[in-house]
Amino acid sequence: MATQLLKTVSDTPAVPADDRIRLAGLGRKEIAAHLTALEDDLKIEPKKVRMRTKQIFHWIYNYGVTEWDAMTNIAKPLREKLAQHFTLARPEIVERLISTDGTRKYLIRMAPGIEVESVFIPDVSKTGALCVSSQVGCTLTCNFCHTGTQRLVRNLTSQEIVLQVLIARDDLGEWPTTQENRRLTNIVFMGMGEPLYNTDAVGDSLDTICDGEGLGIGRRRITVSTSGVVPEIGPMGERTKAMLAISLHAANDDLRTQIMPINKKYPLAELMQACRDYPGLNNSRRITFEYVMLKGVNDSPKHAKQLIKLLRGIPAKVNLIPFNPWPGTDYVCSDWETIETFADMVNAAGYASPIRTPRGRDIFAACGQLKSESEKLRASVKRKAALANGTPADTDA
Ligand code: SAH
Ligand code: SF4
Repeated sequence: MATQLLKTVSDTPAVPADDRIRLAGLGRKEIAAHLTALEDDLKIEPKKVRMRTKQIFHWIYNYGVTEWDAMTNIAKPLREKLAQHFTLARPEIVERLISTDGTRKYLIRMAPGIEVESVFIPDVSKTGALCVSSQVGCTLTCNFCHTGTQRLVRNLTSQEIVLQVLIARDDLGEWPTTQENRRLTNIVFMGMGEPLYNTDAVGDSLDTICDGEGLGIGRRRITVSTSGVVPEIGPMGERTKAMLAISLHAANDDLRTQIMPINKKYPLAELMQACRDYPGLNNSRRITFEYVMLKGVNDSPKHAKQLIKLLRGIPAKVNLIPFNPWPGTDYVCSDWETIETFADMVNAAGYASPIRTPRGRDIFAACGQLKSESEKLRASVKRKAALANGTPADTDA
């Protein structure tokens, strides 16, 4: 794997501290509520709030504007008033890394101490997918996952989820939405955190991301991945109409409980039933089962047979993920031959079973590597800077 970084920059100027309300990332209802709350000062008649909301929404999400003055169908005096109260600025991008394979990782500071990562992966589904985070940290402790070693800081808001998409669109230069040959076409909730422990924000964020007058990403191009929060799977499907991915990783309860403690609470029988009941499931809307290949743990032909049996009758495809190592883990990635044998068996049973090429490993952007590695990277950058300045490095990052 090449380790050369093409670029390590944080070239987006920090947004100065600002008391204004950030409208970028908000949904229609929230924008309307803000306009209504200030209607006396803005001098927007109540019956015009909806129309103004529609205009602003379109400018933010179709054109990606960040300046009020760009909104040419809104008269100048109102634009000036809006600019006094509201900002369209993005949060600060603390770090933006581009891998030799084209993967882009953004470390975004949503608020003091609230930093999240999102990763743009080119060449997925013919175009490209943005992997977004739903929480800072995770309450779950899957023991092969680096994010799982970090406590939950907090859930992200719907706005903070949508902002990850806006930032990637900005960076890829893909405004307006009508632009042809966009690369950011798909969204996967496979970044930090468990999206099904933050279903309200995830659901609301989809309403904005999928809105046809805005970002316009189809619901079937959005995949929500869960470690198996069974009671939330059906309601999430009803609410979002998104595609479902299950982090399965083991096809028997003993092993799964050992590597994913959530399996104790929601064992495989319940999880598979929730999958069978997933709204809209059919052969063109299959569930993706993610299966991380851990050497000597879950990768033998016996395990492949268990998996095939478990999936029987479910429209499914299996994503085999080579384990991405991180400092301190005892797990090792399965040998390539072992992975191929496993894939061949699952494939022969009638399930597509692509082996996911690790992307962005050189920038710590691969599955399960998010957040802590970037903290480490930033710590080393800090140390270098401190050495250059002759000052002691703070080591809290
Ligand atoms: N919490 C959700 C969303 C995160 S998705 C979930 O678990 O589904 C991130 C995916 O990467 C999950 O399938 C996760 O199990 C997998 N993963 C975690 N650590 C990994 C690692 N070190 N190597 C490869 N895949 C990993
Ligand atoms: Fe959390 Fe998913 Fe990692 Fe498990 S795999 S610790 S649920 S982020």
